[in-house]
Amino acid sequence: MSEHKKAKVLVVDDKKANILAIEALLEELEVEIVKANSGNEALALALEHEFALILMDVQMPEMDGFETAEIIRTNRKTKATPIIFVTAINKEKKHIFKGYESGGVDYIFKPLDPHILISKVKIFLDFFNGKKEVENINLKLQASIEQIETANRKILEQQEKLIEEERLKVLLQMAGATAHELSQPLQVLIGNIELMEMMQEDGKDISPYVEKIKKSGVRIAQVAKKIQNLRHDQIRAHDASTKIIDIHQSTNILYIEDNEKDFSWLEKILTLNHEISLLHAKTIDQGLSIIEKRDSDIDIIFLDYLLESGTAFDFLEHCMVKGINIPIIIITGRGNEKIASQLIQAGAYDYFPKSELDVNSVIRSINSSIEKARLKKELDLVHETIAENSIKDGLTGLYNHRYFMEALEIEFERAHRYNRNFSLLMIDIDHFKSINDKYGHQAGDAVLSGFSDVFFSCIRKSDIVCRYGGEEFALILPDTDGENAEIAAEKIRKAVGRAEFKEGGRQLKVTISIGISANSGIKTPRALINESDKALYKAKNNGRNRVESY
Ligand code: GH3
Ligand code: MG
Ligand code: MG
Ligand code: MG
Repeated sequence: MSEHKKAKVLVVDDKKANILAIEALLEELEVEIVKANSGNEALALALEHEFALILMDVQMPEMDGFETAEIIRTNRKTKATPIIFVTAINKEKKHIFKGYESGGVDYIFKPLDPHILISKVKIFLDFFNGKKEVENINLKLQASIEQIETANRKILEQQEKLIEEERLKVLLQMAGATAHELSQPLQVLIGNIELMEMMQEDGKDISPYVEKIKKSGVRIAQVAKKIQNLRHDQIRAHDASTKIIDIHQSTNILYIEDNEKDFSWLEKILTLNHEISLLHAKTIDQGLSIIEKRDSDIDIIFLDYLLESGTAFDFLEHCMVKGINIPIIIITGRGNEKIASQLIQAGAYDYFPKSELDVNSVIRSINSSIEKARLKKELDLVHETIAENSIKDGLTGLYNHRYFMEALEIEFERAHRYNRNFSLLMIDIDHFKSINDKYGHQAGDAVLSGFSDVFFSCIRKSDIVCRYGGEEFALILPDTDGENAEIAAEKIRKAVGRAEFKEGGRQLKVTISIGISANSGIKTPRALINESDKALYKAKNNGRNRVESY
């Protein structure tokens, strides 16, 4: 109880002198004495205050002590207040106070023995103070429980928001990538339909446009199919009480858990579905070696938060270092929302206190984690493709002009700094226009796209092969001086001469002219291109199908 509030004791006696005597005797105790001169007065005061104890004189005029006590006992508010009767009646007659045997009642006999009075009052006071303290602690506990609950709710809401945001982000990115994939074939489709309308008015053949429209249509359908195949939460009823996931392909789950009981609990649930296979690791190292052995075979990892070999944070860090992208769901003995949100930020997909594990939530979490991981993978692939498309040429698969300029710059710097040689080959197909003219553009394209195979059959891995533009190619040969560049160029020229490019049942043959410029260390990349151009011009002038150096 609060320090400044003393416990109150009610002293009831019809004689003021008796009250004063008791007050004097109790002076040494930390109490506030409240006085009543009659039973009626006592009743009124008992309702008004909360007393630790009532000291009740038995013999009083009008209402005696027993009657007063009786009434006090019948009131809900006062019935638990302890009463000590102060009486001159002989000890042997004690039995007449029946009805008061049970707790909270005692007797003190007159004449008063100070020690007995003080020690008896003290017992009740201690009891009262103890009770007050417990009440106080309870109140405080209740308040802090409410505070904790509010904080928990807030953290949970924040965490849910975070997860929802993540999911939205992935979906939006996916939508962006899909729109990007769709827009190109759609433009082709619309463009060709417009062309067809124009051609039809002129009475011309529209079949080539129909072919192009068909191709674009197929591409659009493929994108649409991909969207439809997104896996959603598919839960079907299993029996009355449990639900089981409908996973069409088999799912491999690794559970890293050092507690056998917890493992078998999840095992029992998950193996209800024969398409789930569950692997068990007891330590972080064991888990990692299973992942490495099975390569990309594990779909989901359940991870005990506290293992003898470390915490989930250690495992998440290992995964990050090793580039393991498998979705991880953390399971923990005791829920702690702060740790939960930290784990999610560290890369975990989901988090469960063991007390909240039930079949439905486990399955829902597996489904959404697999789906999220799949979306992430798809997105990475789209990004990769976009990045690759920006440096490669679509027809030949060789590096494009932009990449060539950058690579030349880098090679130039490198050669300059380390005092190394390198050479540049500029290649142009001879009379290529006549291929287009004789056999059509598609034949020309087939020849161009066949060139990368020929190049790769006779160059070094470190050489950089680019389509400079049209039917011209540029090759950067690192660590190659002019003399060796001539040898390489001859090899390429002969290989092209031997090659047969197939198109529409035809076998086409072409020759090339090559101009070489070797880096002498004092030139600029621009100057190198100019020199190789001039050498190429010389090769053309000297009869084509030949190699010239600047
Ligand atoms: P030469 O170089 O031996 O002097 O004669 P050429 O006929 O090869 O020279 P020119 O530069 O006059 O013609 C190049 C032709 O290459 C013109 C163009 O139609 C063709 N061409 C350029 N890019 C492509 C392409 O991507 N596909 C097809 N089919 N032809 C292309
Ligand atoms: Mg454990
Ligand atoms: Mg040309
Ligand atoms: Mg040419």
